[in-house]
Amino acid sequence: MKNKEVQELEKKLTYKRESAWNSYNEKQKEKIFAFADKYKSFLDDGKTERECVEACIARLEKNGFVNAESKEQFAPGDRVYRSIRNKGLVAAVIGTEPVTDGMNILGAHIDSPHIDLKPTPLYEDGGLALMKTHYYGGIKKYQWSTMPLALHGIMYNSDGEKIRVNVGEDENDPVFMISELLVHLSQEQLARKASEAVKGEELNVLVGGMPIEDKEAKEGIKLAVLKLLNDKYGITEKDFMTAEIEMVPAYKAKDIGFDRSYVGAYGQDDRVCAYTSLAALMKVKNPERTCVCLFSDKEEVGSMGNSGAQSLLYENALIELIVKTSGSCSMWDFRKCMNHSHMLSSDVTAAFDPTYASAFDKSNTAYAGSGVCLLKYTGSRGKAGSNDAHSEFFNTVASVFAKEEIPWQTGELGRVDLGGGGTIAADMANKGMNVIDCGVPVLSMHAPFEVTSKADIYSTYEGFLAFLKKMKKDIEGLA
Ligand code: MN
Ligand code: MN
Repeated sequence: MKNKEVQELEKKLTYKRESAWNSYNEKQKEKIFAFADKYKSFLDDGKTERECVEACIARLEKNGFVNAESKEQFAPGDRVYRSIRNKGLVAAVIGTEPVTDGMNILGAHIDSPHIDLKPTPLYEDGGLALMKTHYYGGIKKYQWSTMPLALHGIMYNSDGEKIRVNVGEDENDPVFMISELLVHLSQEQLARKASEAVKGEELNVLVGGMPIEDKEAKEGIKLAVLKLLNDKYGITEKDFMTAEIEMVPAYKAKDIGFDRSYVGAYGQDDRVCAYTSLAALMKVKNPERTCVCLFSDKEEVGSMGNSGAQSLLYENALIELIVKTSGSCSMWDFRKCMNHSHMLSSDVTAAFDPTYASAFDKSNTAYAGSGVCLLKYTGSRGKAGSNDAHSEFFNTVASVFAKEEIPWQTGELGRVDLGGGGTIAADMANKGMNVIDCGVPVLSMHAPFEVTSKADIYSTYEGFLAFLKKMKKDIEGLA
C-alpha cells in the first residue's frame, strides 16, 4: 500500500488518545478557567462532609432549589434537595415523565481521607500539649506530618449547645501540625517500611505549649489549652468524647503549573465529582426525566452507616420523589423506577504518573488532561468489589458523550494485581439501576494535596450535563 493509504487506514482503524485541551477553543478555555475558579471556592468552603453539604445547599438555594421537607407535592420542573444526616445530600430536578420510568442520577461521595481526633485526645508530654488522632480512609500516613493543619467540626458543651469549631482557615488563625523526627536522628525510622515510616499512633497533633500561671499545676500546658477552649467555646475535656473533629490541610485550593492548567487542593477525591455533578444539575431546567445528584458519606471507609451509600435513607429520598410526584409508591413502583434508572458513579480515578510508570498499564490507564474518564470496572485482585458496567450501557453513555463532542477516555485503576479500589457503583447497581464509573483522573490521590487537570474537570461537567439531559429510559439491547 502507498504511504498515504496507510496513513488513512491508521486514522480510520486505530485509537489515539489525545489531549482534551485540543478539543477546546480559546473562548472555551476561558470558560474552563472560570469554572475551575468556582470549583476552588467550593473546595475551600467545604473541607468536611458537613461543610460540603452546607456548601452544596447554599449553591442549590441560590439556584432555586428548596428543602424537600417544605413541599407536600413535587411538580415537573421543581427543584428540591434533602440532607442525609447532615453528611450526605440528595438533590433533584423533577422531570415531566413519571419518576417510575427512572431517573438520571449522578452519584458522588463527599467524604475525603482526613485525620480525626480521638475521643479523649488532649495530653501533655515533654512540655507540649498534643492531641491523639485516628486517621480516616486510606492514607500514606507520612504525608500528613509537618504541614499546616486546620481543625474543623462540631462539639456539644455542657449546656447541650452545638458548637461549630473551625480553626486554621482564616489568615489570622493559628494552625496545627503533626511533628516528625528530625532527619539527624532518623536512622532507625528511615529503615522502617514506608507504610510504617509514620505509624498511626505517631499522628499526634501539636496544639499548645504555654503553661497556666501556676507553677504547682500538674499539667499546666494541657490545662491552659483547656482554659482557652472553655473561654472561647464553653467546652470541657469531657465534651471531646461526643465531638466530631477533623484535622484537614489548612491551605486553600491553588492553580498548579506555569500555565495554571491544574488545580491542586485537599479533598478533590471526590468533591471534584460532587462539584461537577452539582453544577450540571443546577444547569438542568424542565427535563423530561427526573435528574438527581446523590452525594454520599463514608465511601472512603466502605459506604456503610446511615449516611453511607448503602443506607436506606438514600432510597427513602428517591422514594420521596415518587411519592410526592404521584401520590404513592408501592414496592413495585420503586423497583420499576430503579430498573429504569441510570447512574454515573461519579468518582475520581488514578491519573498516569510517569515517575511511577510501572504502577500502570500505559495503554489502559487514564491520563490527566485527556478528558473525563469512563471506567467499565474498578475493584482489585480480579475486579473484586467492582460493578463492571454492561457493554450496552457503556456504549450508550459513550455515544451520548461522543454526540456532544465531549473529550473522554477510559482506563483501569493501575496495574493488574498491584492494588485497586472501589466506588459506590456496585452498591447502587445492587438496587437494579444501570451504573458506570465516570469521573476525573487525579494525580497523588488521597494525598493532602491532590491534583486534577482543569480540562478534565470541565469535560466531566460537560459529560455529566449531557448524561442528565440525554439519557433515555431504554438502553438498546439491554433487557
Ligand atoms: Mn473516591
Ligand atoms: Mn478515595
